[in-house]
Amino acid sequence: MKTIFEKENNTGICLTDEKEDLSFLDSAFLRSGKVGLPNVGELEVLRHYKELSDKNFCIEKGFYPLGSCTMKYNPKVNELAASLEGFVNLHPHTADENSQGSLKLMYLLQEALKRITGMDAVTLQPAAGAHGELTGMMVVKKYFEVKGEKRTKVIIPDSAHGTNPASAHMCGFEIISVKSNEKGQVDIEALKEVLDSEVAAIMMTNPNTLGIFEENVLEISKLMHENGSLLYYDGANFNAIMGYTNPKLMGFDVVHLNLHKTFATPHGGGGPGAGPVCVVEKLKEYLPTPVVKFDGEKYFKEYNLEHSIGHVRSFYGNFGVLVRAYSYILMMGENLKNATEDAVLNANYLKEKLKKYYDLPYDEPCMHEFVLSGERQKHNFGISTLNIAKRLMDSNTHPPTVYFPLIVHEAIMIEPTESETKAKLDEFIDTLISIAKECEDDSEKILSAPHTTPVKRVDETLAARHPDLCFKN
Ligand SMILES: *Cc1c(COP(=O)(O)O)cnc(C)c1O
Repeated sequence: MKTIFEKENNTGICLTDEKEDLSFLDSAFLRSGKVGLPNVGELEVLRHYKELSDKNFCIEKGFYPLGSCTMKYNPKVNELAASLEGFVNLHPHTADENSQGSLKLMYLLQEALKRITGMDAVTLQPAAGAHGELTGMMVVKKYFEVKGEKRTKVIIPDSAHGTNPASAHMCGFEIISVKSNEKGQVDIEALKEVLDSEVAAIMMTNPNTLGIFEENVLEISKLMHENGSLLYYDGANFNAIMGYTNPKLMGFDVVHLNLHKTFATPHGGGGPGAGPVCVVEKLKEYLPTPVVKFDGEKYFKEYNLEHSIGHVRSFYGNFGVLVRAYSYILMMGENLKNATEDAVLNANYLKEKLKKYYDLPYDEPCMHEFVLSGERQKHNFGISTLNIAKRLMDSNTHPPTVYFPLIVHEAIMIEPTESETKAKLDEFIDTLISIAKECEDDSEKILSAPHTTPVKRVDETLAARHPDLCFKN
């Protein structure tokens, strides 16, 4: 018998005075001494957390060109909307007749997303993009089950985000990878070779993760549909097309959106997201429930969909994120199109200015992001992309996404978003150029970077496998 919670532990915390038999627990996880809680007042606690938050990096502090993640500025009016008392204090079990405002918001958000994607029905339930992928692939799977067709394979381009194969695999599909051609796009001939009657779907991102628009998307959708297969659209890059085109026009059947990327709700650090899934008419009855409907008088939650895959999350999804996204959409209106325009313009500006100093494996006009390669720096000076990313941190800049997509060696994936001024973009260009020069004349400075951050180099494997969450100065 061992006691883990001593009564007289002077911390003010006493969870139990019973002596429990804990022999079933591994002794490595049992505390032997007293809990080391600090004895401090409110002011000390506040100072501690303020100091920690000052060490943090965020979009309000500096440029955040994290490719694929769309770290745009999240306008504060969205926070105001999400903190309205009527939203915040509503219990999720409140009856429909007493929660008309929140249901209306969800309904109108569904309608807005239908219009933006061109699709016919929406579920707001999934809590993130990857969760949307899982939901979408469950819909695809059930669709073929109900049709009585045995389709076991899903085709995924080799430039795809890792969550695509992971989601399809979790649904029990076999993954067939197709390679990209020299333009960084799906190789149609390679696609034709793997297309057969067992293919359920293709999962595509357009523009793809290289930031390049798939010119042959219409031909691909024709091929897939003629084969009786469906097309899944990974909407993580929606910021590149919003208002200009939509997945319906490209021939897609299922789409997820990342509200926390395109629709300006805060993300990063594992915070809540939202990955609504939008589908064409014939997949409407397969969506998870509830969906919100309107009968001309009242808004209500519909639980009866003929082939529904069931719930994918408790209640209605991350409601606070939905409020923020709706607030953003209302605030922007037709200007959503301008966001796309500026995001694409900013990315092309950076690409053109930087391509002299870093390799650009796919030299094509890009959409909202582009992928450089640090191969030249690695080959000539032994400086890897990781080192370049670390050095950028000394200029109050969040490093871009690195080593993704996998088909580019030493990848540096840059997505400026529409939020930045030309002055900020120019500053970033100067920084990257000076790092390229530093590779030649002062490589030690780069290899030992970052020099100005609260935490210097960490052993990333160790940090992932055995995280030490106690902050020490
Ligand atoms: C971010 C991203 C995802 C996954 O979305 P989460 O919301 O992070 O789960 C999928 N595909 C692409 C291309 C992405 O950039």
